[in-house]
Amino acid sequence: MRITLIAISLTACLLAACNSTESDPSPAQPATLVADGTVANWQPLPAHVAISRDTQLARQRILGIDKLDAGQVKLWWYGVSSFIMAAGGHLFLLDAWEVVGVHKNYVPITRDDLVALKPEAIFIGHGHFDHAADAGYIASRTGAALIAGDSVCAQARTDAASNPEALDFRCLKLGLDADNPAGSVFSTRIFANMANVQIIKHTHSAADPASLTTGGMPLVYTPEILPFLTNLNTDPSETVKFLQSLPNDGGVGQPEGGTWAYHFRVGNFSLLWNDSTGGMPDNDPTADAVRVALAGLPDCVDVHLGAIVGFGMVTSAYRDALAYVAAARPRLFMPNHHDAWFPGIGGGASAYETQWTQALMSLPNPPKQDYLRDPDDYLKVRSFDVKAAEWASNCQ
Ligand SMILES: [Zn+2]
Repeated sequence: MRITLIAISLTACLLAACNSTESDPSPAQPATLVADGTVANWQPLPAHVAISRDTQLARQRILGIDKLDAGQVKLWWYGVSSFIMAAGGHLFLLDAWEVVGVHKNYVPITRDDLVALKPEAIFIGHGHFDHAADAGYIASRTGAALIAGDSVCAQARTDAASNPEALDFRCLKLGLDADNPAGSVFSTRIFANMANVQIIKHTHSAADPASLTTGGMPLVYTPEILPFLTNLNTDPSETVKFLQSLPNDGGVGQPEGGTWAYHFRVGNFSLLWNDSTGGMPDNDPTADAVRVALAGLPDCVDVHLGAIVGFGMVTSAYRDALAYVAAARPRLFMPNHHDAWFPGIGGGASAYETQWTQALMSLPNPPKQDYLRDPDDYLKVRSFDVKAAEWASNCQ
């Protein structure tokens, strides 16, 4: 079943839904008080951690791996911008949300599965519910370190307080949105035996009405509705949890804890992940600072996991997502945030594929693309040999 709509009306729906949701955000006290860090004094996570038999079995069952192979970087997409990532002999998460809202069980993994995988760290791109609502749940049950803006860490600790058996977890606190100008890059050793991670402050997607006066157009697309009808969420406790998470970190406004991209390096291989794309008009100081940061990443970008769907689509279609790719110049692009995660605004991968691919191929030196499709590509592993010759050559 398909209904043709334009992004602007759908965004209005989501805004209305979020604004009409009143909830008590934090009745409980923070659960744990452990030594957090900042980019200036972070103590790296250990090179090796012992893996229990249960964890090994869970990784086998959910991911199909017997042990972590430091010679491979592996990715498993689990909805919106969330990935399970194995790199350098470590397993960690990029964002943390089991996709539950209007629908449930569309993505074949639960937050308890994510706990069972025992990730060592959780990198959060920004604190909106669709990226971080399960960060506290998972961190407090695994002890995974959280790398996130201060407000995201605070929310996670509040959420953890509802778990009587909460484990300690550390936060690498990146500050608040107001603390760091867009384009700031923090080179930080997250794991003792891995290269520094480049943590890039950028901006969240936003509609840009000014672009409409300079030739910008809303993206017109046909969202998928069927995934919601065939996987309806009928669990009242999940509905309550979902509604309570909607106002997290500024609701649909700019996230208080900032918006962060991460660039990982293992051997010859590098990977950039951004879970939102901020406004990228020409001759704009903020956009230019983000361009410079992305273009200047050390050793370039081999694989770019970039958000292609956001509020900027309402006024300027794919301008912003394309600008990120143009600046980062990856060899391979993989989209995110384009699946059916919320009716209308999460149109489903098929709703965007043709137009996005045409836009991507219009770049002067376009990357290859691995276009992720929901639900087929959920939890379907992507593996990269970190020693492969194709990653070793110089920047494009
Ligand atoms: Zn967001």
